Amino acid sequence: MEYAKNILETIGNTPLIKLNKLTKELPCLVLAKYETFNPGNSTKDRMAVKMIEDAEADGRLKPSGTIIEGTSGNTGMGLALAAIVKGYKCIFVISDKQSKEKIDILKALGAEVVVCPTDVEPTDPRSYYSVSKRLGEETPNSWYVNQYDNPSNTKAHYETTGPEIWKQTDGKITHFVVGVGTGGTISGVGKYLKEQNPDIKIWGVDTYGSVFKKYHETGVFDKNEIYPYVTEGIGEDILPANVDFSIIDGFTKVTDKDAAIYTQKLAKEEGMFLGNSAGAAIKGVLQLQEHFTKDDVVVVLFHDHGSRYVGKMFNDDWMRKMGYKE
Ligand code: PMP
Repeated sequence: MEYAKNILETIGNTPLIKLNKLTKELPCLVLAKYETFNPGNSTKDRMAVKMIEDAEADGRLKPSGTIIEGTSGNTGMGLALAAIVKGYKCIFVISDKQSKEKIDILKALGAEVVVCPTDVEPTDPRSYYSVSKRLGEETPNSWYVNQYDNPSNTKAHYETTGPEIWKQTDGKITHFVVGVGTGGTISGVGKYLKEQNPDIKIWGVDTYGSVFKKYHETGVFDKNEIYPYVTEGIGEDILPANVDFSIIDGFTKVTDKDAAIYTQKLAKEEGMFLGNSAGAAIKGVLQLQEHFTKDDVVVVLFHDHGSRYVGKMFNDDWMRKMGYKE
């Protein structure tokens, strides 16, 4: 018989899938690392389990402990799956701009969810950074995950996602393009790929309203770059320790409108029903087309599933209300 001993054993080894219609004007092969095949429907399952295993190993997380994290949903999903299998409780702190589906899904997996306002400074006591930190200090036998600065996040992608992409492309990958939030995906995959072949270019996709692109180009943390935006999962108003700027060759910024429109296009033109950051990522690839030539192999990573966005990017009333559609 061939079976997984539990749901966590099905994480990773996701397929690489060729894009056809959306990329037809590009000279090169464009392949999607399709992370929704993970059991929690996102790449974050990989780092969630790795962060828990590393915390168990060095005693930060103890038997029947409570896992506390500020999460926009996908990390929470991965942590919740692992908590069920391994016997922990979860409290997640989430910002109020996240879709209702994401909150309901976390509750469905037995987690407690605390909702905080988005439009306050990270240092404000109401912000989701502050609230998750405080709950971590106040809750007995708890462990505050902190995916932004937790090195196990990057390590998970260095140990699994990066090697998978290298093997699946037979070492022929020339460019890796991915949305950046905590930075775990780009830094882990990017470091592994550059160690195999330093000529591979690593591109981050950023949003308008986020600090990454300007910081990478100038070394200046410019507060004027920070303002509310709609795109989910990528961009930050802080510099997480997991963003390794030294392995990133450049960033391209995608507008909220384009990210939303390309999320719909991926579904309608490629049959790829994916989340909002996948729309941003594929638009990022198209914006970078002048960097690609005939023999290039571009891999773009798609983080999560479309089901979490049915009330937003897949809802035409919402798209019209936002001014993204006539
Ligand atoms: N897309 C989605 C949907 C996400 O949830 C995240 C994680 N915040 C990202 C992209 C960015 O990935 P990372 O945190 O590894 O930079």
